[in-house]
Amino acid sequence: MKDDTKLPGPKDLQKELADYLSRKYGERVKVISPVIMRTELNKDESDGREAKPSSLNQVNFRLKPEELKEFLDQYIIKQDEAKTIVATKVCTHFNRAEFDRRLPQEDGGRSVGQVKNNILMIGPTGVGKTYLIKLIAKKLGVPMVKADATKFSETGYVGSDVEDLVRDLYHEAGENKELAEHGIIYIDEIDKIASSRNLIGPDVSRTGVQRALLKPMEETEVDLKVSHDPISQLQAMERYRRTGKREKRTINTKNILFIVSGAFPELIPIVKKRLQAHGVGFTAEISTPGKDTRFLHQIRSEDFIEYGFESEFIGRLPVLAVLDPLAEEDLHQILKNPNSPIITSKKKDFRSYGIDLLFDDKALARLARLAAAEKTGARGLVSVIERVLLPFESRLPSTEIHRFSISLNTVEDPEADLKALLKDPDAPERQSHYDRLSAEERQELLALIQEHEELLEFCPSLPLSTTRVNLLAAFISQEFMDLTEAAARLKEIYNQVEVCETKIFKQLGLTVEFTEGAADELVRRVVTEGQEPEQVYRLFYQDFRAGLRQVSEKTGRRVFTITREAVLNPEEFLNDLAFEGFDD
Ligand code: ADP
Repeated sequence: MKDDTKLPGPKDLQKELADYLSRKYGERVKVISPVIMRTELNKDESDGREAKPSSLNQVNFRLKPEELKEFLDQYIIKQDEAKTIVATKVCTHFNRAEFDRRLPQEDGGRSVGQVKNNILMIGPTGVGKTYLIKLIAKKLGVPMVKADATKFSETGYVGSDVEDLVRDLYHEAGENKELAEHGIIYIDEIDKIASSRNLIGPDVSRTGVQRALLKPMEETEVDLKVSHDPISQLQAMERYRRTGKREKRTINTKNILFIVSGAFPELIPIVKKRLQAHGVGFTAEISTPGKDTRFLHQIRSEDFIEYGFESEFIGRLPVLAVLDPLAEEDLHQILKNPNSPIITSKKKDFRSYGIDLLFDDKALARLARLAAAEKTGARGLVSVIERVLLPFESRLPSTEIHRFSISLNTVEDPEADLKALLKDPDAPERQSHYDRLSAEERQELLALIQEHEELLEFCPSLPLSTTRVNLLAAFISQEFMDLTEAAARLKEIYNQVEVCETKIFKQLGLTVEFTEGAADELVRRVVTEGQEPEQVYRLFYQDFRAGLRQVSEKTGRRVFTITREAVLNPEEFLNDLAFEGFDD
C-alpha cells in the first residue's frame, strides 16, 4: 500500500513538475534541472538512498603492491628499490588492517606483541621521500600528517607533542575517528633525535623523544581532549551538558602507520666499519670520505644503535627503504616528466596571468645542471627555475605577451632574453620555436597516454580510441592535470553522458541511445570548449526534446539512436526523423 505521508523522490517530483508545466504552457517551458541530475549521479541506485559511504569505505584498502608501485612510477624518478619496498609494506599494512577489521570482534584485535610495518626511510634532502608518502596517502585515500622530529626535541613536553600529531591526523581526517585511526604519520629528520655519539653522558631529551614515540608507534589510546586547550575543554563541557555523559574520546593508534625518515649523514662510516670488522674487504675504501651511498643498502639494526638509537625504537621500525641521491640526469628526467608538479606549477603561475609557457629540452637540461650544483636534490630545481623566471614573472603580466618559450638563452641569461623578448615579441624565430615546442609537447603526451593505456582502465564499453586519446591530451595540457587525474575526470564525464542518455529522456517515456561518436562529441564540448557538463546536456536536451517528443507522438516510436552527426546538426536529424515517420 502506498504511504501517503511519504514525499515523492526527486525523479517523480521532476516528472510531476514537467507534466504540470507542459500541460499549462505547452512546449514553451522546458524543465531540466542540473541539480536533479547531480542528485541522480550521487545516488545509490539499489535502494534509492543517498550514497554517502563512510569515509573509511573510500579508503583503497585492497590495493596491490604492484599496482601502487606502477602508480608511483608515473611520478617518481629513480628510487626503484624504495618504491617497491614502501609500496609493498604500505599495501600489506592496509590490507592487513582491513583483514583484521573484518574478523569477528574478539579476534579482530592484533595479537599481543605483533609488530607493525612502520617504515624507516633513509635519503638526503629533495630525493622524493615526502613526495612518495604524499602520493601513497592520496592513492589510498588516507589522511597523512608530516612533522619534523627536531620540533619535538626543542620543546620540553615531549610526550604531548607526539600525541599532538595524532590529534592533527584526526583534524586532517575531517574529524572522522575511524579514518584517522587508519592514517599515516610521517616524521622527518629522525636522525636528529639519535643521541649524539660525541656527547659525554646520556642525552636525555633526544632519547626521551624516541621513548615518547614507542607507544604510539605500537598501540596506544590518544585522548582527543588536550588538558591545556581551552576550546577542547569547552567542547567537552558542552557535550556533558547535552548528554550528561563524561565520555572520553580517544584515537587508537594500532592501525596508524608511522613512517620516519632522515638523511643520516654519518651512517656510512659506521656501516663500512662493521663490514670491515666482519672481514668484508673494503679496506681501501674505508679511508675515503664517507660519501658512498651504496653502503646504505647494507645497513643493519646494529648500525642504527651505534648511531645513537635505542634498540626498542629501531625494533619498532622493521622496514627499511634507502633513497639514493639524484644525479643531474635524474633531475633532467624529473623536469621532462609531464606529471612533475615542478614544471606544471610554474606553468600555472604564468597561466594565472593569461600567459602560456613552454620549455625547450635544452633549457631543461641546463636547469638540471644548475640545480645539481646546489646539492639539494630536486629542491634545487625549484629554486633555479624561480631564479631564471622571476624577471619574466615580474614583467610579462603588464605586457601584451601571452605565450613564451624558454630556450637555452633564457636560462643562461634571463635578463638579456627578457630584453630581447620585450623588444620584438613577434620575432619569427620565437614564434616558430614556440610552435615547434607545442607540437613536440603534444606528441610526447600522446605517446605517454598510449604507453599507460592499461593504467587508465577506461570504461570497457569505451575503448581508448584516437578521439579519446586526443581528449585526454587536451585535458592534461589545458587543465594541468596528470594522466591519472585526467583519465578519472574524463571517465566521469562519459558517465555523466550515460546518465543523460538513460535518465533524462526516460521522464518523457523515451529511450535515447548515444552512439560512441555522439558521446565523444558531447564530451569534447566539455573538454575543449570549457563548458560545464550540465550546460552541454541542457543544450542537447533543449535541441532534441520537442522534436523527439513530436516524432514519438506521431509515430509511436520510443527508442532513438543519436549519432555524432545528429548532435552536430539536430535540426537535420529531427527533420529526417519526421519524414521517416511521414513515410511510414
Ligand atoms: P624530501 O626527500 O626532502 O622529502 P621531497 O619529496 O619533498 O624531498 O621533494 C621535493 C620535490 O621534488 C617533490 O615535491 C617533487 O616535486 C620533487 N622530487 C623529489 N624527488 C623526486 C623524484 N625522485 N622524482 C620526481 N620528483 C621528485
